Amino acid sequence: MLTRFAPSPTGELHLGHAYSAVLAHDAARAAGGRFRIRIDDIDGSRSREDYVAASLADLAWLGLDWDGDPVRQSDRLADYAAGLDDLRRRGLVYPCFCTRADIAASLSAPHGPSGAVYPGTCRDLPAAPRERRMAAEPHCWRLDMARAVAETGELAWEEAGQGQRIADSQAHGDIVLARKDAPASYHLASTLDDAAMGVTHVIRGADLAASTDLHRLLQALFGLPTPLYRHHALICGPDGKRLAKRDAAASLKSLRDAGADGPALAADLAAGRLPTGYSLQNP
Ligand code: GLU
Repeated sequence: MLTRFAPSPTGELHLGHAYSAVLAHDAARAAGGRFRIRIDDIDGSRSREDYVAASLADLAWLGLDWDGDPVRQSDRLADYAAGLDDLRRRGLVYPCFCTRADIAASLSAPHGPSGAVYPGTCRDLPAAPRERRMAAEPHCWRLDMARAVAETGELAWEEAGQGQRIADSQAHGDIVLARKDAPASYHLASTLDDAAMGVTHVIRGADLAASTDLHRLLQALFGLPTPLYRHHALICGPDGKRLAKRDAAASLKSLRDAGADGPALAADLAAGRLPTGYSLQNP
């Protein structure tokens, strides 16, 4: 068994991150398995080195230990590029030149689990203008969802304790897999990383359950194994809203600075006991 905790170093970790990390760590350790850290630092404009160091310090303060060095997405760009190339060769992705404003202006764009469903404007551009625009205009790469689904057929994954979940990838539409400024989307990077790291159990917040539709699809397209998933309830603050990185009161650093006992907090979280005012909720 191998689990992982994958923080994005774009802010301080809070109680919700601690909960996720403790569940993943304890599940692996209880099974005599391994627990690894992955730093999701693919977004170069928002990721900060001081948050990487602070996140690792928070995890150590909780009393968690991990196997090996943390994996960094910024070290794995060649793998993401190879994955994208593979999809390109198979005609499963296409360059898209639309701006956000173009997409917002399209009246036909319905909403899906990943936001507005792309209306498909650039999907069937003829080869000549496509080549010309690729040389001159910034573009992202989108998955041709209809073709992808035609290749894989219906897919499902196993949600721990709840049985099979059908992966409804189609509802997300033609998702972005890479941009000029971010060489792989979270979906592409996370799917390739989980496989490369040998992750057997993905334990993460229920807010990411919809992403699993897409990760399952990408696994099928790349011929990768499918881990078992557990999407846990989210910690909400005294206002009933799920915690965000801006909620300073719930940050692990502020708890640490206030003299809280890290391993005791980890044990409480593992048992579902939360500090006063906080609650666990399913979205
Ligand atoms: N880096 C993601 C986040 O902080 C988590 C990714 C994952 O667990 O798949 O939301």
